[in-house]
Amino acid sequence: MLAYGSHRMNPTPESTRETAAALLRQSIVWDNHGCMPVARPHDTSFLPQLQRYRAAGVSAVMLNVGFGEMGIEEHIRTLGSLRHWVKARPDEYLLLNSADDVEQAHATGRLAVGFDIEGANAVADQPSLVSLYYDLGVRWMLLAYNRNNRVGGGCQDEDTGLTPFGREVIAEMERVGMQVCCSHTGHRTVRDVFDVATRPVIFSHSNPSAVHAHPRNIPDDLIRACAATGGVVGINGIGSFLGRNDNRSETFAHHVDHVAQLVGAQHVALGLDYVFDTQELDDYLSKMAHTFPAELGYEKGVRMVAPEQLEAIVQALQKLGYGDADLRAVLGGNLMRLARTVWKSGAPI
Ligand SMILES: [Zn+2]
Repeated sequence: MLAYGSHRMNPTPESTRETAAALLRQSIVWDNHGCMPVARPHDTSFLPQLQRYRAAGVSAVMLNVGFGEMGIEEHIRTLGSLRHWVKARPDEYLLLNSADDVEQAHATGRLAVGFDIEGANAVADQPSLVSLYYDLGVRWMLLAYNRNNRVGGGCQDEDTGLTPFGREVIAEMERVGMQVCCSHTGHRTVRDVFDVATRPVIFSHSNPSAVHAHPRNIPDDLIRACAATGGVVGINGIGSFLGRNDNRSETFAHHVDHVAQLVGAQHVALGLDYVFDTQELDDYLSKMAHTFPAELGYEKGVRMVAPEQLEAIVQALQKLGYGDADLRAVLGGNLMRLARTVWKSGAPI
C-alpha cells in the first residue's frame, strides 16, 4: 500500500495561492460530472453559469442529461437542448467528442462540454440506443441509479447482481467506446461488472467509504478492483458523501489522498457533482424522501464543493505533499488517458 506513497515523502516546499493558481492555469482540468437542470428542455436560464467552470480554470466538463427513472424522451430532449445551446456559442464552448477537443478547449480558453447518463433506464430495453447516445456526445453511463433496474442493482436497494441484459448493455458500451461507470450502483452488481468488463471501468463520482461510511461511497476493495482495470475514481464534492455535510477543500483533498495512497494518483479524478439549480435538488429530495432518507444526509441545504474551490483544493493537496505530476494527473491527465484509450473516434455531429 505504501508503494504508492512516495509523493508523500517529498512534500512540495512552496504551497501558496500563486503556485496553485499557476498549476491550474497550466494543467488540463476536467470535471467529469456536473449537474444542470434536466428534463426542462425549454429552460436554459442556468447554462450561462457554465462560465464559472471556465473562470475556475476548467477546460472540460461532463453534464448529466438524465438520471434514475427518467426515460428515453427526457434524455434526448435534454441532449437536444444542451447541444443546441453549446453549438450556438463557439467562441466560449465546444462539444466534447474526443481528447483532442479538450486540448483545443484548453489552448483556446474555451470549455469543452460532454455528456453523461446516470442509470441505464435511458436505454430502456434497447441496447442499440447506446450508440445513438454515444453519437450525441454521451461518453459515460452509470448502470443503476440507487435503485435496481433492468441491468442490475442500485446502491440503496436490495442488489441482486448484474442481469443478462446488463451484460448485453456493457458489451455494447465497450463496443462503441462508451465508458462503463459504477457510481450509484450496488456493490454486488459492481463486483459482477469487474468479472465481465474488458475495458477500464470508472467510478465517475464516488468517494471512499473508509473516509466516510455511506451507501453511496465505495469500499477499498472496489477501489482496488477499479484501478486494476485501469480506471479512475472521481472524487465527489457533495457534503453528504464527503461527510456530515462538510464541503471544505481540505476534506475533499482528504478523500483524494485516501484513494491516491491506496491505488496511486493515476487512478484519481474529479467528479464534483456540483448542482447549479439547488431548488431542483431540494424539490427532488423532498419528493423522493422514501428513497433519499434525511438520515443519510439527503436533505435541504446540502453543501457542495464549487468549481471555485479548485485552487484551494490544489493548495490543500500541495500541503499534503503532492507534486505537480500527480496533481496534473488528478486534475485531468487521467481522464485524458482514458478518453484516448477507451473512447472510439466517430464523426462528430
Ligand atoms: Zn450522481
